Amino acid sequence: MGFRPFVYRLARQLGLAGRVRTDEAGVTSEAYGPASALDLLERRLPIERPAAARVETMRAEPIPPEPLAAFEIEESGAAAERRVAIPPDLATCGDCLRELRDPADRRHRYPFTNCTSCGPRFTIALGVPYDRPATTMAGFRMCPACAGEYADPADRRFHAQPNACPACGPRVELLDRAGAGIACPDPVARAAEALRSGAVVAVKGVGGYHLACDATSPEAVRTLRARKRREEKPLAVMVADLPAARALAELTPAEEALLDSVERPIVLCRRRPGAALAPEIAPGSPLVGLLLAYAPLHHLLLGDAGRPVVMTSGNLSEEPIAYLDEDARARLSGIADLFLCHDRPIASRCDDSVARVVAGRPLVMRRARGFVPRPVRVAPRLSRPVLAVGAQLKNACCLARGEEATLGPHVGDLDSLETYQAFEGAVARLEEFLAFRPEVVACDLHPLYLSTRYARERAAALSAPLVQVQHHHAHAAAAMAEHGLPGPVLALAWDGTGLGSDGTAWGGELLLAWRGRFERLATFRPLPLAGGDLAVRQPWRIALAALLDAFGEEAPVDRLPLFASVPAEELRVVRRMLAAGLHSPPAHGAGRAFDAAGALSLERAHSRFEGQVALALDAAFDPGEPEAYPFEIAAGAGGVEELDLRPLWRALCGDVLAGTSAGRVSARFHRALSRAGAELIRRACGRLGDLPVVLTGGCLQNARLAEGILGGLDGSLQVYLHGEVPPGDGGIALGQAVVADAVASGRSE
Ligand SMILES: [Zn+2]
Ligand SMILES: [Zn+2]
Ligand SMILES: [Zn+2]
Repeated sequence: MGFRPFVYRLARQLGLAGRVRTDEAGVTSEAYGPASALDLLERRLPIERPAAARVETMRAEPIPPEPLAAFEIEESGAAAERRVAIPPDLATCGDCLRELRDPADRRHRYPFTNCTSCGPRFTIALGVPYDRPATTMAGFRMCPACAGEYADPADRRFHAQPNACPACGPRVELLDRAGAGIACPDPVARAAEALRSGAVVAVKGVGGYHLACDATSPEAVRTLRARKRREEKPLAVMVADLPAARALAELTPAEEALLDSVERPIVLCRRRPGAALAPEIAPGSPLVGLLLAYAPLHHLLLGDAGRPVVMTSGNLSEEPIAYLDEDARARLSGIADLFLCHDRPIASRCDDSVARVVAGRPLVMRRARGFVPRPVRVAPRLSRPVLAVGAQLKNACCLARGEEATLGPHVGDLDSLETYQAFEGAVARLEEFLAFRPEVVACDLHPLYLSTRYARERAAALSAPLVQVQHHHAHAAAAMAEHGLPGPVLALAWDGTGLGSDGTAWGGELLLAWRGRFERLATFRPLPLAGGDLAVRQPWRIALAALLDAFGEEAPVDRLPLFASVPAEELRVVRRMLAAGLHSPPAHGAGRAFDAAGALSLERAHSRFEGQVALALDAAFDPGEPEAYPFEIAAGAGGVEELDLRPLWRALCGDVLAGTSAGRVSARFHRALSRAGAELIRRACGRLGDLPVVLTGGCLQNARLAEGILGGLDGSLQVYLHGEVPPGDGGIALGQAVVADAVASGRSE
């Protein structure tokens, strides 16, 4: 799709004869002509490829001459079509953008302009092969002009499945909150006007509905937050283009490239001081999530609005994003004043992806639109098809076969019927698209995750083995698979919480990992979580546990401002629970240490979403502070080393009592944790020799921590961060698949 016509045009331009086709191997081209022209073809192919195409390997070999008159595109067989199944959705290309803005073009201001280099793909696909009748464009009959483009191999729209124009394609319409159509000559211009005057507009996009409002207006943002019941989580902001992004954020070249990439993720950037953005967009954070317009409808809307626009998922807090028209109208009518809709159905829900630059390279934190369903190449290859269902939070599934692992779109936390149904739907759709029949089903060790229950049922129905994979081993294996590391590796998996093979909660692990097994080398000294998961939303409970661990009964609880905001009776009860070990399972999670440090230094007893206090601690960081808190590494039970943070808690507590700024406390804490991570790795290398190192787990989304650990390691070590596979639970299914394949094959290496 797009690549064959590109080869065709290039070969013709060079005066070559021959053919190009897709087959099991990928794209094969046989070209005949003078050696110099053949040489040019070989050199120009990878350089001038379409923006959306990736050339992974290329091989050239001489073939016997054939007397051909011209260069042609060969139709391909069904098997080949399936192999290059369905591409991800692609951001509007430069050529289409020019047409969109050209008053003389027949697609001037047409919101569904696309070509073989851009446009919707995965989100409009209904089945395979990916061909117009199997997309949601099937109901639109191409006009003669569009049909001509579609049939002409020399045209940019040759076999562009969603090809359309104002005469034959989808149309936008504007509805009021009751669903009644509003007659107007230009619904997009009218919606932009409404945005400028403070309205909340539901916009039907590529993979679902967004809720949009004026990002420069505090009042509009407050209204959106109140109606959506999303009180504090940061909101993404869409801008028209890179110059508009530069006006709002201080961007590095790597961040600009990521923003402008064909995947168009939301990119976490450093907000420019004084940027024209409502502070309510990301309260208390120096960062802002920006994304560039990626569909023609966005380009028109942003252009007409003439300002940055909040573009957040169309849902009530925690629900899956709305993508079906009736459902969206039902669920969003209490939030949006207007609906900017269209009649091109969305077949698959797909959120915006989220990424950031860490250590100079892109790191995907939420993998969805633009990436799904492009497979991740894994090495070594799997010996059988594995369905891996992920964990409970930030769920995404993975279907892995041979050298390719396809991660499903981000679904969210599996704690409601709606998200669970979205999860089931995502698995079923990918299985159908890939003609995938699992021979092994993989899931987490945790028996109560909905994904685990689903996996058990599926395995039984398929009579396939079920392999339960330890959470942090799966994180490690995801990083190994992404980087083609066969193992053994040292895997620093710092995370929130995952069930360990000893039945306790793990999360601050250093593992020696192979695909089929692992050894636990080091972990965090455990802290009791009073009230279990409740402690995640109430980080004061973890802070209290850390202080009691560090000081014993002498802990200066009464003098610390954090605890003044906790009701005295609650404090007494929790203290008693901790002393008696009641409902206080020990947890080794690294994430909890960040929560406790943030709670103590920022006087934040509660967290509205997981990791909120840790993010606030990160935001407070004072780069001018060079010191780090002390810590110890002790020999623990069973030869597992323990990172002992009691000295850190004592010093941090002293700082807070002495009135040291939160910025300095944050810096000393982050530097200590970075040093501890590097020190654990160095010690392991001292015992085992130098091994490749992977840094994984949800905490490694923290750029400061990841870069700090990297900086503390010897440059001669091979250290790998995640790239297009999320380090958090959104990438864990890939690791589950790889481990399950090794286990089911009886390989322990
Ligand atoms: Zn295009
Ligand atoms: Zn047309
Ligand atoms: Zn995890």
